[in-house]
Amino acid sequence: MNCQTVKKGVECVFMTKKGCEFNGGTCHTIIPQCEGCERAREFEAGVFCITVPDPQIKWRRGTCNLATHIKEKTESKKPMLNPIKASKRGAR
Ligand code: SF4
Repeated sequence: MNCQTVKKGVECVFMTKKGCEFNGGTCHTIIPQCEGCERAREFEAGVFCITVPDPQIKWRRGTCNLATHIKEKTESKKPMLNPIKASKRGAR
């Protein structure tokens, strides 16, 4: 159902005919770490994340996994070794 409170028009699973059923009855504004994220949008009531009702929760244990402005560090991948072939190579 579309939000009828602070993020009017945004589809939300917490919005019901009885109103917003998210903890506290409303979304929370973004936090400084969210600045630059494409999911942060300005509404009449402030700047909110269109995906997450409480951005602070998403950042509690590190970087928000939905953030569009932060690139994950890509570890250099080692080529996969087939253990059977590797053991045969060792036997030669
Ligand atoms: S997706 Fe994550 S980083 Fe982006 S605005 Fe929402 S909570 Fe903030």
